[in-house]
Amino acid sequence: MSEQVRVRFAPSPTGPFHIGGARSALFNWLVARKNGGKFVLRIEDTDLDRSTKESEENIKEALRWLGLTWDEGADIGGPYAPYRQTERLDIYRQYTDKLLESGQVYHCFCTEEELEAERQLLLAEGKTPCYQGRCRSLSEADKIRLAGEGRKPAIRFRVPENQQIAFKDLVRDTVSFDSNGIGDFVIVKSDGIPVYNYAVVIDDAAMEITHVIRAEEHLSNTPRQVLLYQALGLPVPKFGHISLILGQDRSKMSKRHGATSVEQYRKLGYLPEALVNFLALLGWAPAGEQEIFTLEELVENFSLDRVAKNPAVFDIDKLNWI
Ligand code: GLU
Repeated sequence: MSEQVRVRFAPSPTGPFHIGGARSALFNWLVARKNGGKFVLRIEDTDLDRSTKESEENIKEALRWLGLTWDEGADIGGPYAPYRQTERLDIYRQYTDKLLESGQVYHCFCTEEELEAERQLLLAEGKTPCYQGRCRSLSEADKIRLAGEGRKPAIRFRVPENQQIAFKDLVRDTVSFDSNGIGDFVIVKSDGIPVYNYAVVIDDAAMEITHVIRAEEHLSNTPRQVLLYQALGLPVPKFGHISLILGQDRSKMSKRHGATSVEQYRKLGYLPEALVNFLALLGWAPAGEQEIFTLEELVENFSLDRVAKNPAVFDIDKLNWI
């Protein structure tokens, strides 16, 4: 890696800090430290109903406890401040204006009820439920009429037809999606708040993030984000999607498997060094026999090409053994 590596951890502060999130933070932190890069902490708090200051504080405290300190971001600032999305609304607005001007996005006046009815209809017909483009070509008169009915428009991205969206994932190699399977999607809700897929693209580009390393559950969001990078004429970063964490019964790790948040493990008396070591081995396979690593040793040994595509199984006995 010859460029200046810039990675980020971008949690949504909507609840307890899950160990899966801590593992994503750790992998990003290791990539930054190994390559003399920067690790950015950005708070993705655009879900106004679910985001809390308490959760944000909890995440930051857990990161510090684990030793995963950040070089730029929430609380400490940096050249791309602010790093909290609700403080960046003006920035998103400027990009939205450009997209509206170029016609790559459009106002959508459909109500929740109308969208739900359309979804049900498509499902009943055995089709993929994606937006059928009802507001794609409204006239100015239509817009005035619909606004006059008290409807507040959302803004949708016009997804190009018949396009293959492919990218080389750092963990899973080439991944490709057909744009015809993606309906025009909302980028700004009717209350003016941008959705995750949109804000994340603008922020990752503005903050010059070179590697986006995150959980596999975001893989299906990535083609939408690639389309947005292209529409905005912004450079597409490299992506690496790390596998799910499963419980020992191989179902998705959840509360019924025991403690799932960093705070719970901390309260149970686990040491941060043990948890970090354990999290590193959830998906990453060291090259040699060594299984116990300090943070410094992890920095030395870690590489994304030894991160597995397959789900990682959470084995509490291993944590207890470390
Ligand atoms: N805010 C998103 C989350 O917490 C971040 C996803 C990403 O890293 O792009 O899931």
